Amino acid sequence: MHYVTNAHTHLELTALTHLCPAQPTSFLPWLARVGWKISRLSREEILSAIAQGIAELKTYGTTHVGDITHSWLSVEPLLASGLNGIVYLEVLGLERESAMERLQEAQKAIESARHHPNYGRMQVGLSLHAPYSCHPDLLRAGARWCRAENVPLCVHVAESEVETEWLLRGRLPGQARVLSPLVRATGYLPTSVPRQRPVPYLAALGVLDAHPLLVHGVYVSDEEIALIAATHCAVVHCPRSNHLLGSGRMPLERYLRANVPIYLGTDSRASSPDLNVYAEAQFACQLHHRYVPEEQIMALLHQPLEHSL
Ligand SMILES: [Zn+2]
Repeated sequence: MHYVTNAHTHLELTALTHLCPAQPTSFLPWLARVGWKISRLSREEILSAIAQGIAELKTYGTTHVGDITHSWLSVEPLLASGLNGIVYLEVLGLERESAMERLQEAQKAIESARHHPNYGRMQVGLSLHAPYSCHPDLLRAGARWCRAENVPLCVHVAESEVETEWLLRGRLPGQARVLSPLVRATGYLPTSVPRQRPVPYLAALGVLDAHPLLVHGVYVSDEEIALIAATHCAVVHCPRSNHLLGSGRMPLERYLRANVPIYLGTDSRASSPDLNVYAEAQFACQLHHRYVPEEQIMALLHQPLEHSL
C-alpha cells in the first residue's frame, strides 16, 4: 500500500481559515483568537468544517491522518471516512477539578469508541493539549491511563519561545508581556509555574512514558532530543505552521541523527494555507536544504500513522 500521512490536523478548525495569517505573526494573540472563536462555533458549523477537511485530505491523496478534536465531533466522521490513522480527543484545563472531570468523560468516550463497528483502521486516542494549558494532575493522570490502557496519546510541546519562557520563568518574553491578561482570560496560562523547560517537565510528570506523539518540538536542546529518543516518542513536524506563527525552524537534522521517528503534518487551516502534506514536505525541503537531503524529507510522508493495540 502507498501511504501518505498527514500526522497533525485539527479538522474542525477548517471553519477558521480566515484566522490563517498571510505573513508570520505572533503565536500568543493568534492562539487567543483561535480559543475565542472555537468556543463560538455551532455544532453544525463544526460538523461541516470537519466534512470539508476530510474531503480536502482525500483530494490530496492522504491515506493516514492524526487529527485532534476539541469538540470530539470529528470521531464519527473520521471513523466513517475510510481514512486510516488516529483521532485524538482533546482535553485541557488549568482548574484541577473540571479538568479531571473532562478527562473522565474522554476516557468513557474513548472506551466506547473502541466498540464502534468501524474501529481499527481509524483509532481513537487522547490529546492533552499542551504543558502550559493542562493542570499537572491532568497531564500525570491522563498519561498514566493511556499507558495502562494502551491508548494513543498526543501532546503539543515546545512550539514557541513563549511556552518555554512561561514554564521556566513564569513570564512572557519581550513585548508579549503586555498580552498576559488577555491570554490568561482565555485560560491558557497557568497561575503556578513549574520552573522547568517543556520536555523535561513532561518527562518529570511521566507523560513521555506513555510514548505520546509530540507535536512541533521546535525549541529543544540536544539533551531533550535524547530524552525523546530514549522514551520512544515520535514527533510531528509542521514547518509551515511554525513559520506563520513565528516559531522558527525545528532542528530536523538533530532529531533524525538521534533516530527519533518524525512525521509531517499540516496543522489546521487556521495556521496552514491547505491540508496538502506534499506542500508541507516541499516547504520542509526548502527550509532544511542545508541540513537534510530532500529524499530523506520526502520519505517522511510515506510512513503509516498507527498505534499498536
Ligand atoms: Zn495543533
